[in-house]
Amino acid sequence: MTWDDEYDVVVAGSGAGAMAGALAAASAGLRTAVLEKTGLLGGTSAYSGAAIWLPGTRVQERAGLGDSAESARTYLRALLGDDGAAHREAFLETAPELVDFLEADPAIEFEFQPFPDYFAAPGRLDMGRSFVPLPLPVERLGDRAALVRPPVDRDRAGRGHSAGPMAQGRALIGRLLLALDATGNGDVRTGTALTGLSTSADGRVVGVEARTAGGTVRLRARRGVLLAAGGFESSAALRARHGVPGGADRTMAPAGANTGDAIEAAVRIGAAAGRLDQAWFCPGLLTPGGLPAFTLGFRGGLIVDGSGRRFANESLPYDQMGRRMAAARGPFHLIFDSRSEGLPAISVPPLSPDEQLAAGHWVRADTLDELAGRIGVPADALTGTVERFNGFADKGADDDFHRGEDPYDRFFSGGASPLVAVDRPPYRAARVVLSDLGTKGGLLTDPDGRVLDGSGRPIAGLYAAGNTSASFTGPVYPGPGIPIGSAMAFAYRAVQDMRR
Ligand code: FAD
Repeated sequence: MTWDDEYDVVVAGSGAGAMAGALAAASAGLRTAVLEKTGLLGGTSAYSGAAIWLPGTRVQERAGLGDSAESARTYLRALLGDDGAAHREAFLETAPELVDFLEADPAIEFEFQPFPDYFAAPGRLDMGRSFVPLPLPVERLGDRAALVRPPVDRDRAGRGHSAGPMAQGRALIGRLLLALDATGNGDVRTGTALTGLSTSADGRVVGVEARTAGGTVRLRARRGVLLAAGGFESSAALRARHGVPGGADRTMAPAGANTGDAIEAAVRIGAAAGRLDQAWFCPGLLTPGGLPAFTLGFRGGLIVDGSGRRFANESLPYDQMGRRMAAARGPFHLIFDSRSEGLPAISVPPLSPDEQLAAGHWVRADTLDELAGRIGVPADALTGTVERFNGFADKGADDDFHRGEDPYDRFFSGGASPLVAVDRPPYRAARVVLSDLGTKGGLLTDPDGRVLDGSGRPIAGLYAAGNTSASFTGPVYPGPGIPIGSAMAFAYRAVQDMRR
């Protein structure tokens, strides 16, 4: 085999897991390549809030939370039973070590940020246990700043970063890039899409094939290949094949980025995949450009289905709400009134009411009857639903869906009840669609991130993390920051295994 370049470790993708894995490898002295299909680093991780759910670390200790691996184990066990127990234990064991490793780097610093865990279960911390990276002044990255994917609204508009510090997901990717660059062992190759895996006669993965503007390149990986190239949320064909609710045009992932390339390449050489119908779901509002805006933290309004009736507690954590939507019949609309000018919820990216009305994604009417006509639901059903909801708001108790009873429901309204009467015309209805933050089924791995074949044996030299791998949390989204926390933990473990 002739190689265009030789590395110890080749990482496909450049989200949080990929970059943490690359940093772990490069700082251990391994020559490491990061291959990124698009021209920008960070994928969905860069769009994210970068909440990181890695329990029992020095960050929670600094914040005086009383968090521990034990309480996180109690929580995860209550939600998942002993499904994925080996992965859970590996994750809990790795969290403090990973955070010690990351914070030992002068480029990386985290702080606790309150955000409740998503389920009322033993071991839950009401203010949560996740943390975020500190904002990063753009100047610290110099020319490299332009490589980091901007926030979702600016990125979709083809605009770069604003002048202020990089925050959230941009800060995480920027800080990991800064740290990786400082090792002198990391080679970041954008515009380089993994298309295949090279194996030796005994089936070991020894390198990759990748497509670049200049043609195909073959890169040797002496220790291993880490696949952390997202899920297949942007592939309509794969979503249909595996029965993932929602749509490739409704995902929050950067357009066209995550099409399952790495999963498919591994499956072609005998890797096993699972949980392929799963995603990190969320409600989304449509933006004027037709793409979704991730919407969470409903602190008012109510959501009706195609029959004009409520079907869930609107303030549920977004993945649970998304799953209720997948099981219900749309079209779905958020009904709210003129108490607030804008949306009684948070949307990423933020939306302008005028633009929403002009695009027809929001409609306005002076009466509920008229509003019902405009969104195509029976007027008596909508009026009855709103009257019943207003009764719940008056007495402060939702007999149907118990909205407002869980601390999470009240988190985004500063402790106030999200049961707020909808009775001040003009009324508004905003179209709500089922969106997602990415698929979460993928390659089956062992607790060291080693990709398994059809008989459950590790494929030598091949590792996976993040949404390229099947999440050990299955159909459950335990708390804010699990996608990124688990991606980083298993990427880090994969590299420790490569070093052995
Ligand atoms: P990505 O971060 O999407 O990275 C995959 C990368 O691989 C992309 O850059 C892609 O271009 C590249 N790629 C794809 N194919 C190839 C190929 N063939 N070769 C090379 N490269 C390839 N999660 C949290 O944990 N905490 C949060 O606070 C949070 N907030 C969120 C907020 C928003 C608005 C959104 C949209 C998501 C949020 N999420 C959050 C979810 C989280 O961002 C994702 O689930 C997670 O970042 C996925 O990581 P990943 O590494 O699997 O994929």
